[in-house]
Amino acid sequence: MTTTDDEWGLATRAVRTGHHRSAEGEHSEPIYTTSSFVFGSAAEAAARFAGDEAGNIYSRFTNPTVRIFEQRLAALEGGEACVATASGMAAILALCMGLMQAGDHLVSSRSVFGTTSVLFTKYLPRMGMAADFVPLTDLAAWERAIRPETRLLFLETPSNPLTEVADIRALAELAHDHGCLLAVDNCFCTPALQRPLELGADLVVHSATKFLDGQGRCVGGAVVGDAQRVGEEVFGVLRTAGPSMSPFNAWVFLKGLETLALRMRAHSDNALALARWLQRQPAVEQVFHPGLEEHPQYRLAQRQQSAGGGILSFRVKGGQPAAWRLIDATRLLSITANLGDTKSTITHPATTTHGRLSEEEKAASGIAPGLIRIAVGLEEVKDIQADLAPTLARL
Ligand SMILES: *Cc1c(COP(=O)(O)O)cnc(C)c1O
Repeated sequence: MTTTDDEWGLATRAVRTGHHRSAEGEHSEPIYTTSSFVFGSAAEAAARFAGDEAGNIYSRFTNPTVRIFEQRLAALEGGEACVATASGMAAILALCMGLMQAGDHLVSSRSVFGTTSVLFTKYLPRMGMAADFVPLTDLAAWERAIRPETRLLFLETPSNPLTEVADIRALAELAHDHGCLLAVDNCFCTPALQRPLELGADLVVHSATKFLDGQGRCVGGAVVGDAQRVGEEVFGVLRTAGPSMSPFNAWVFLKGLETLALRMRAHSDNALALARWLQRQPAVEQVFHPGLEEHPQYRLAQRQQSAGGGILSFRVKGGQPAAWRLIDATRLLSITANLGDTKSTITHPATTTHGRLSEEEKAASGIAPGLIRIAVGLEEVKDIQADLAPTLARL
């Protein structure tokens, strides 16, 4: 699981890293659909189980197709080790179980994926761990929330759906000053646009379900970091608890990674073009995308990400009725909460992804009734505009 091919650029790693062709000479990576592996002798079996000899044992924790995916993603993120998991949520659970124990505490951004906050508030306490939540961009609030037993700071940047950008370098310094680790969910940018480990973060988690796949086909996840914490501690959870990625899904994600750099550039270009167009529509009050000069963390985003990413949101005049009218009138965009697909998706956060929040919480975190999120896909921008324009003109 150690990174090789150090001199290669990102796109080359995305296409090549991790595949050591078998004796069959296959060009595309093989899918090893086998639960277990055969040993040459009793002594070899004993040596593998004891860890004295490298090699496959059982696909809960050693599968060659999954290993190619792990090596490739580790190489893209610039990490020593990667552990692939059955889903993004399994990655976050494995991270917490691997690096924390009863009595430990974590500080999380308030603007994280909804199920992540459920995991932190409902299920971590069952293991004796606790979590507190702070506004993503308020560095002083992060510092105030850190306690002697705090082990981990956890965030997503840009945030969903308002695309707020956190200063990864500053938060990594804060974490290290207090003896904590910084974990970044890099789902929205992917390593094609942002590499948190290079900015000082200790760990990266992914929902591979989103842009890494890129075509909405499979559910999967990963944790990336150093050889000790990820290669030993998180791997130990995978081996023992078994939230493993299937070899078939690993192969689909490998095919996704091969086009990642191209796709992320195209998603970002499309989203920025659509954001600028939305800014010119009279029915639109405000547009949120890190590539817009008006974005509050524009300079930070320019420094930290190589492009703005594929997610934007905007607020229409007329609140929820107007937002729903626009969503219901689309013929091209899919009404779904998923994101990171070639197909553009449109969502009303206040009544779906953020529906569990109280009215006060929604107001405090900017989830206005008129807010709409679009995860911009790879259709032509003019077709997305043509889909939205007639209804926008009548709001
Ligand atoms: C989807 C998502 C997750 C959870 O991933 P699953 O693969 O659905 O389990 C975690 N974080 C972010 C930012 C996500 O968008």
